Amino acid sequence: MRQAFEHGVLANPEHRRDALERLETAITLERQSLTEALRLDLGKSEVEAWTTEIGFTLGQIKHALAELDRWRRPRKVPLKLQLRPGRARLQPTPLGTVCVIAPWNYPVQLVLAPVVAALAAGNTIVVKPSEIAPATERAVTGLLERHLSDVIGVVNGGAEATSVLLRERFDHIFYTGNGRVGRIVMRAAAEHLTPVTLELGGKSPAIVTESADIDIAARRIAWGKFINAGQTCVAPDYVLIPSSLADRFTAALAVAIDEFFGADPRLSSDYGRIVNTHHLTRLQNYLTADNGRIAIGGQVDVASRYLSPTVLRDVPPAAPVMDDEIFGPVLPIITVDDLDGALAEIRSRPHPLALYLFSTSVDEQQQVLAATHSGGVLINHTLLHLAAEDLPFGGIGESGMGSYHGRAGFDTFSHLRPVMWRPMRPDPRLLYPPYGRLKKRLLERFL
Ligand code: NAD
Repeated sequence: MRQAFEHGVLANPEHRRDALERLETAITLERQSLTEALRLDLGKSEVEAWTTEIGFTLGQIKHALAELDRWRRPRKVPLKLQLRPGRARLQPTPLGTVCVIAPWNYPVQLVLAPVVAALAAGNTIVVKPSEIAPATERAVTGLLERHLSDVIGVVNGGAEATSVLLRERFDHIFYTGNGRVGRIVMRAAAEHLTPVTLELGGKSPAIVTESADIDIAARRIAWGKFINAGQTCVAPDYVLIPSSLADRFTAALAVAIDEFFGADPRLSSDYGRIVNTHHLTRLQNYLTADNGRIAIGGQVDVASRYLSPTVLRDVPPAAPVMDDEIFGPVLPIITVDDLDGALAEIRSRPHPLALYLFSTSVDEQQQVLAATHSGGVLINHTLLHLAAEDLPFGGIGESGMGSYHGRAGFDTFSHLRPVMWRPMRPDPRLLYPPYGRLKKRLLERFL
């Protein structure tokens, strides 16, 4: 891939366009096998496979193709009077050969969306899909090898293969996954002084206040939580709500879950499965008494890796379910006295990837924005901020560093190279020694 880059396979914008179009065609051609792989790995429905993975990625490609000329264009930087005549530009240049390491929960989108950005910016790529979603790993690997092997190399395997890969020198490493491995990636990158983007996770809170419509808030939170059986990095991890509203909210959640998936979600083709038994066991451990009372759901079928949409109430402050990102269909409801109580709870934890607020009060919205940090904020819905192509997506602190989607992705995989021009003439001597009293005074004054 490094040789391919040196040979200039993507140097010409037309080559980048061609690579993006080939990716678009490949995804369209192989849509069926990608959909089937997602069903095998995660029980993903066809609609979810389209909206959150395949169609989502095609949308990113279309957007990149439409915007590429604008993104590539040198960006004017104004020069102060003392530096004129002259001009300055930021010239986006490709980084070289970059590495994209992806996780299993959206195993198409999280490989291919960074790939779109990296190709648009003119880089060759080495991709490492997740071995935890093996059917999709095979499908994505085959697709890239068949259609884009001139600009993308694929490495398969687990932690060991990734460790070997990380010994190589890349020009950028784009890692999506958990913070533990994020640290390993960053340590390996430090060896070559390689910049990294870390797209991590965390416990993303959803605050519901008295000004919200409780039924709508419950429906939107249930949708964002139980899509992909809760295995979404920006899923609302837990709900913070005043005690007075908790019962109504729980009842509204039960209605929403029933509307979405019927009385027995196991029979719904729209409800996904847990990726493997290791993760199912991890989630089952949240269904114990030290995590509160199961208000909704709690059914498990190990053979089919099924865990029903589950809601926990009366969750003790020190409950294990509040320690780490849940990353599954278990939703604890934490009651608070007021908005200040909710904010104190959020501030006591690392910065989350997303923060959701359900409130129609502008004052409350301002208060939450001012008092918290998070990767992104979405007011009065869940997940949809990811679909806004030009809103950068990424974390802060423990939830990651750097961002992508749309132009932010193009910039992540580009070096915005500052270039300045001066005309050959005039060449006033003011700048050069010797510095007599007059020159010194003028320089002190003007520079
Ligand atoms: P995972 O286990 O598939 O790991 C991700 C990648 O890291 C894989 O390709 C894997 O091979 C590699 N890996 C695993 N162990 C390694 C090691 N010891 N050394 C080197 N490489 C190693 O996925 P995961 O980490 O379980 O993914 C879930 C996490 O990802 C959650 O925390 C979730 O919030 C986060 N996530 C974040 C985003 C985002 O966009 N910010 C998106 C999806 C998931």
